[in-house]
Amino acid sequence: MWAEVDLAAVRHNAGWLRRLVAPAALCAVVKADAYGMGAVAVGRAALEGGASWLAVAMVEEGAALRRSGIDAPVLLLSEPVPEAMEAVVAHRLTPTLCTTAGVAALGAAVSGSGGGFEGRVPVEVHVKVDTGMHRVGADPGELVAVVRAVEAAPGLRLGALWTHLAVADEVDDESRGFTAGQLARFEQARRAVAEAGISVPLVHAANSAGALAWPTSRLDMVRCGIALYGVAPSPDLASLVDGGRGEGEGLHPVLSLHARVSHVRVLDAGERPSYGRRRPLSRRSVVATVPIGYADGVPRRYFAAGGTVLVGGRRHPLAGAVTMDQIVVDCGPGAAVSVGDDVVLIGEQGTESLTVEDWAETLDTIGYEVLTGIGARVPRVPVGGGRAVEDTERCGTEERA
Ligand SMILES: *Cc1c(COP(=O)(O)O)cnc(C)c1O
Repeated sequence: MWAEVDLAAVRHNAGWLRRLVAPAALCAVVKADAYGMGAVAVGRAALEGGASWLAVAMVEEGAALRRSGIDAPVLLLSEPVPEAMEAVVAHRLTPTLCTTAGVAALGAAVSGSGGGFEGRVPVEVHVKVDTGMHRVGADPGELVAVVRAVEAAPGLRLGALWTHLAVADEVDDESRGFTAGQLARFEQARRAVAEAGISVPLVHAANSAGALAWPTSRLDMVRCGIALYGVAPSPDLASLVDGGRGEGEGLHPVLSLHARVSHVRVLDAGERPSYGRRRPLSRRSVVATVPIGYADGVPRRYFAAGGTVLVGGRRHPLAGAVTMDQIVVDCGPGAAVSVGDDVVLIGEQGTESLTVEDWAETLDTIGYEVLTGIGARVPRVPVGGGRAVEDTERCGTEERA
């Protein structure tokens, strides 16, 4: 089994998004190892394609990008814990701060370094305001105090003001009203900071859904993850992503998931393959075993939910429960299936395809969870060029970012 990560698609998508939102800048969100696709390779491809920033959730993720030699600005999407502030400065990461305690901790890390951070200060800080998501962010009533604390701290400088949208991917009236309200509250927050006599160099609010569906949310920069990976933020926005998929328009899927048939057997009607003996075969059928299981990101419920995989260019249902390391596929009576045949779980085979969105629908979840659910032992194989990829291919190893 293996997952192919199409870096040409990442470059294409980054360029497509950048053109869509221009003159706003593109920040490529590569947290959680670029949604499981490899933060370093994907981050490089996004920067080549038109992104000018990268964003991650954790300090350690940012440090890993720096260690790989990536020099672009790296935004941390949450306020780091006080113990991590020295690493933030040492790796030239751009922290998000939302509390005066966070400002104090970063200020202490900078000033306590005894000049050891020369050339890395002033540290630019992106202050986040909560406009309704209620996860992290300064309360609007406390925002000016946080921004003032940044301005007052030696070695810190206000780099941006930002917020995060909760329902930009939903198109019903109530959700649209909520998003409009968030953008209005963000505008008020900007005004409050301006009235305090503090100028804000950069403002950003949009995730992928905002960037695609809310032109007024694009502001100076958009922070895109899921769209960069060619996946719709929600079914409601599928048409904005699709744009004639496969014909060079729209966004291109980055990830595909593959395996090869390891065993083939013909079973009689009534046989019940796999654990639990959940379902009898309705007719004598060719059943193929494929070595990929729930440890690799094929959830157990994929069987009961009616999930399919592609074998021989057609969709086939599972014949029984997903196990940790293997699935069994009902290929139908008389199917010409052999050991070693390609199985596509996500991607295209012949004229048929199974998308991340298909999986999300089958499993009653979102594409984000499908992508990040692909297990650690699935090798990520970069395709689609880039110097870094050619180098690693020559060495006969796979780039595992
Ligand atoms: C994850 C995240 C994003 C990216 O969201 P997508 O929907 O994948 O584009 C943007 N901003 C913040 C704060 C995030 O946590």
